[in-house]
Amino acid sequence: MALIVQKYGGTSMGSPERIKNVARRVARFHAEGNQVIVVVSAMSGETNRLIALAKELQASPDPRELDVMISTGEQVSIGLLCMALRDIGVAARSYTGAQVPILTDSSFGKARILEIGDSAIRRDLEAGRIVVVAGFQGVDAAGNITTLGRGGSDTTGVAIAAALKADECQIYTDVDGVYTTDPRIVSEARKLDTITFEEMLEMASLGSKVLQIRSVEFAGKYKVKLRVLSSFAEEGEGTLITVEGDKPMENPIISGIAFNRDEAKLTVLGVPDRPGIAYQILGPIADANIDVDMIIQNIGYDGATDFSFTVNRSEFEKAKAVLEGVLQHIGGREIMGDNRVCKVSAVGVGMRSHPGVASQMFRVLAEEGINIQMISTSEIKISVVLDEKYLELAIRVLHRAFGLDKA
Ligand code: ASP
Ligand code: MG
Repeated sequence: MALIVQKYGGTSMGSPERIKNVARRVARFHAEGNQVIVVVSAMSGETNRLIALAKELQASPDPRELDVMISTGEQVSIGLLCMALRDIGVAARSYTGAQVPILTDSSFGKARILEIGDSAIRRDLEAGRIVVVAGFQGVDAAGNITTLGRGGSDTTGVAIAAALKADECQIYTDVDGVYTTDPRIVSEARKLDTITFEEMLEMASLGSKVLQIRSVEFAGKYKVKLRVLSSFAEEGEGTLITVEGDKPMENPIISGIAFNRDEAKLTVLGVPDRPGIAYQILGPIADANIDVDMIIQNIGYDGATDFSFTVNRSEFEKAKAVLEGVLQHIGGREIMGDNRVCKVSAVGVGMRSHPGVASQMFRVLAEEGINIQMISTSEIKISVVLDEKYLELAIRVLHRAFGLDKA
């Protein structure tokens, strides 16, 4: 008998029909003799609706009160799923985050899980009941309701699996696994049978939206066996997230092409070449709470440097205003900005042992006449910033060049 955690996202829980479908799937696993804990998201669109509603009353809603209300979407879901299970004759019991309890710190809107109590859940499992837990929410030491950040139900699923030492954590979503790239852009994209935690982390932070980044970190840290599957397909093994070295022989050099459309680039031209400049530029950006991604600085022969960095497109105007405020002080000449750029990345642990991947990537882009504006690399990824008009072309040619197209 195995203990399985299954997490169902908003699309899978999107209507009464779909909830019935989830109930049937959960019941089947249970009937096969497994203990099942289900973690659910709010019905699709519900969390957005609640946030918009809050903003009608307060432009930037009080964090504690916002968490009280946006956590309700998941509470609706647990009740509905338990009803659907009971309707088909399966005993089930719902748990809010506080009832589990899922103890978190008090950072409303982005709380971190500190501890999970397992005794109540275990009693239910041992009595043969299915346990249904609300994703995304927790409770702090003072009893306040907290939420874990957007997409946080994935993290709830993984954390529950870690706390109860589940045999597997299955994340059910609307795709049947992790793909080499977005199949809506490249129809030849293939589902991966396995991907390593590190690759998955890169893919998630580089723009692939399959799993919340924190859930992957969590799973890696606590060695949770994690699998992504479709809640709509009747069969399929999905994609198993593995530890590197489990199957070294089969690692392709590149596992996937990730991309992010929401990039913007800012450049401060002609800043003097002296210590402290990077700090004087990025310090105020950090103080304004703007996340910086890629950074490039190069000293020209005239002793002046151009300093470029990228931010999320939604923060472009804000970042530009901050720079305009410090331009004079740092002795820069001019600020240039471009919010029509994108980032395309090749990811693969095989890169470690295969030199020449970067040059191959640059050659392929050059052959298409695609200009590379910025480059950044890590041990297992190479990212380039491009004019957004090249996004789809770049993804397609790289996907083919790295042998990822379906045979
Ligand atoms: N309902 C929350 C959100 O939309 C959490 C989740 O779905 O994972 O972000
Ligand atoms: Mg999600």
